[in-house]
Amino acid sequence: MMIQSYSAHEIDKHNINFPLTVPDYRYDQKNEVFKRAVWDDQIRVWASRLYSEVTFQNRPGYRQLDYALRNAAWNLEYDSGCGNSQGNSGLFSWTRVTDKIRRFIDAGEKLNRSPAELSSIVKKAARFLGADLVGICPVHPNLIYSHEYNLFTKKHYPIDLPENHSSAVVIAIEMKQEEIAHSPNAIGGAATGLGYSRMAFVANLVATYIRGLGYQAAPSGNDTALSIPLAIAAGLGELGRMGMLVTEKFGPRVRICKVFTDMPLTLDTYKPFGVTEFCMTCKKCAKHCPSQSICNGDPTVSGESISNHSGVLKWYINPEKCYKFWVKNWLDCTNCISVCPFNKPPGHIHDATRNVIRNTSAFNRFFVWLDDLLGYGKPFQAKEYWDMS
Ligand code: SF4
Ligand code: SF4
Repeated sequence: MMIQSYSAHEIDKHNINFPLTVPDYRYDQKNEVFKRAVWDDQIRVWASRLYSEVTFQNRPGYRQLDYALRNAAWNLEYDSGCGNSQGNSGLFSWTRVTDKIRRFIDAGEKLNRSPAELSSIVKKAARFLGADLVGICPVHPNLIYSHEYNLFTKKHYPIDLPENHSSAVVIAIEMKQEEIAHSPNAIGGAATGLGYSRMAFVANLVATYIRGLGYQAAPSGNDTALSIPLAIAAGLGELGRMGMLVTEKFGPRVRICKVFTDMPLTLDTYKPFGVTEFCMTCKKCAKHCPSQSICNGDPTVSGESISNHSGVLKWYINPEKCYKFWVKNWLDCTNCISVCPFNKPPGHIHDATRNVIRNTSAFNRFFVWLDDLLGYGKPFQAKEYWDMS
């Protein structure tokens, strides 16, 4: 396959709207590597080990003690969210509310406020209900998956959002740095699992709130639509080299959920802060990826796998290699998140550095060198998480 690539200079010269470009087709979620683990023999042969065997090991991060935390953190998503398996169900149902709340919704009417006021109200409520970051964007039809592949029923069917759901309230949920730093072991997996469980919890509550104001709301986890481009369009961050959202406050340590709605809202806009330019120099995620799945070169408009959503100028990862490492490791991995320099917590020095990166790329090479010198961004050496004294 011929892959077109662009240098940093060309991106600049042509003023290519790099992370917001939307492909001219809708992605079929059947091709996601996690869905392929069910129907594609190439992936299924690896997946059977990951999903059917349990092997505790006598080393920090891989013992029963560690898996128990990881499994507790995932339980709400596995039991009541299920956004990784199917959309419009469980806590992500597009219509379901309890009877105790339904009577209030039925008795009410549409709150008649300006889009700016409604946006402000919904964002405040979302933060109260557990969102760590929230923004609003228009729903481009090509960011909705063409089809869902249901992991429970193994059925493949078209996705159609209800009519007039033209805005998305996009929510980022922080994953704690202490636990993410333990990737790729079960403590790191606990940070990921808690992110997913909180996605289901928060998206459900925000949707219920919007319904309480008289409007329709369809909550969504990883189902239904591509979360990262929506989050970028909603001003929550930029696309990193490792293919994930990088936010200014938490770096890539976030999970994303969204609520589609017919409520008239004021839209946020893309707010870059220097990530794309920084990634051109940094490459730490590519260097420290245990499976070498992350592109080390320039962005391209096409990935090499059917699991990539090609047609957008970006860095494509190799999902098969990544997934294969997870199988070998017996657990999911977030090394590419944990080594990213944008993970740093707020503080005078980190905030000042972010400010410089936002305004100029002239010092990026120096910042990467300094990050290495200070010992940040190295793969984690497994150590004890628990204080057992
Ligand atoms: S999750 Fe791990 S294996 Fe996959 S791309 Fe990131 S660092 Fe590489
Ligand atoms: S680790 Fe470096 S190259 Fe990778 S996403 Fe973060 S800033 Fe970009």
